[in-house]
Amino acid sequence: MLYFPFERARPSHLELVLTRMKEIAIVGGGPAGALCGEKLSSAGFSVTLFDEHLAWEKPCGGGLTHKAIEKYPFLLDSPAAKKEIRSAELISSRGHRARFEMSRPLVIYSRAVLNGLLLDRAERAGCKMHHARVTRVDTSSEKVQLTAAGKDHTADFVVLAGGARNQLLPGTTPLQPKDLEVTLGYFIPAREEVVKIKFLNRMSGYIWSFPRTDHLSVGICAKMAEYTTQSLRDLLDGFIRDESIPNDSARFYSHVLPSPEFTTLRHRKIAGHNWALAGDAAAYVDPITGEGLFYALRSGDLLAESLVNRQPESYPARLRAEFVVDLEIAAHLVRRVFRGTFLGGAVTTRMVQFARRSATFRDLLRDLFSGAQDYRTLRKRLWNQFGVTLGEFIGDFFRAPHSSITPQEE
Ligand SMILES: Cc1cc2nc3c(=O)[nH]c(=O)nc-3n(C[C@H](O)[C@H](O)[C@H](O)COP(=O)(O)OP(=O)(O)OC[C@H]3O[C@@H](n4cnc5c(N)ncnc54)[C@H](O)[C@@H]3O)c2cc1C
Repeated sequence: MLYFPFERARPSHLELVLTRMKEIAIVGGGPAGALCGEKLSSAGFSVTLFDEHLAWEKPCGGGLTHKAIEKYPFLLDSPAAKKEIRSAELISSRGHRARFEMSRPLVIYSRAVLNGLLLDRAERAGCKMHHARVTRVDTSSEKVQLTAAGKDHTADFVVLAGGARNQLLPGTTPLQPKDLEVTLGYFIPAREEVVKIKFLNRMSGYIWSFPRTDHLSVGICAKMAEYTTQSLRDLLDGFIRDESIPNDSARFYSHVLPSPEFTTLRHRKIAGHNWALAGDAAAYVDPITGEGLFYALRSGDLLAESLVNRQPESYPARLRAEFVVDLEIAAHLVRRVFRGTFLGGAVTTRMVQFARRSATFRDLLRDLFSGAQDYRTLRKRLWNQFGVTLGEFIGDFFRAPHSSITPQEE
């Protein structure tokens, strides 16, 4: 047979399947599933989203960094209730404090409001909503089979965006305790204007207080394999007492948070021929900061883009090109940040001290908080500005009225 280079090749089996792909099922209506549903419905797919709660108050800080707002401006522009916070305070394990103004606000939502906003957008784009728990997903045949609330459904492709606790993982492995953090906290009716982060003595984790419109989300996170829930609760209760936060009608919460190790990010399978994971289910959370909302939104969006382009196999490469490499670097750094030492003291304590005394270091923190500073270029920037930072630190130390050496600062 003659081969004509311009003749269109016969479509492969996979191409035929992809061309016919029309019906998408999404398990999970958090940020990853809801945004994916909106984008796919807008592109003309028939999308059914299953969530056992729909818009609910998922345990979360609810903080969106500027990089999320920049990509999805509707998160700031929508009339939905949210708080814009411009001040941050870092507290070392030994009680040093550094307060600074952020160049870009942290936008803090209650999760019921944020999920509601995203699900409304998906529904308006044509996504069908099922308020039901999915109990079975079978991807072994060409058509995906699902069971939700006792009823069977089929789809051409399934998006698994059921979060960190979800066990529906056909074709891949569940996350192990080494890839997870335990988190617990309280929703406390109180008003504040400052985000607080407190570091803990040689612990991979931290305490946060995130102000929302009419309450605070105060919580603690740490590696699941290393700490008991009770020890974390004791530390959190101590913080609440020290900060004089009234907690009479506080509502307790607890949840798991992915904190992926390097090898998990590098090697865990996140997609097959008729399924893919997005958001927490894929473990896309920054292991240092715990930021997951941006990565949930981005992975849901990139998955939708891959399906709209009929190239689901391009999804992992799209993720790597955007953020997975940066998360891998964070996974390498996390222990050094929380448990390492620098100039004879804990890295986190030095961070707070530098933030207090160096304007250049505060600029760096502002960029880290907003997401403008990635981990890829962090080391270079730290080295480039180390001399200036140290000079500012020493200058301020001898100039400022608080310059006397306190026992904590030694
Ligand atoms: C305590 C805490 C604080 C956090 N604070 C922040 C923060 O301030 N900023 C930030 O960026 N990130 C934060 N995160 C991380 C963030 O909450 C997650 O990364 C984000 O919610 C992930 O979104 P998702 O859509 O992947 O999953 P989720 O938001 O977990 O959504 C999953 C959805 O799937 C549904 N579901 C699960 N299983 C099933 C099933 N079998 N059938 C039907 N439905 C199902 C659930 O009901 C849920 O609605 C925090 C996490 C925790 C635990």
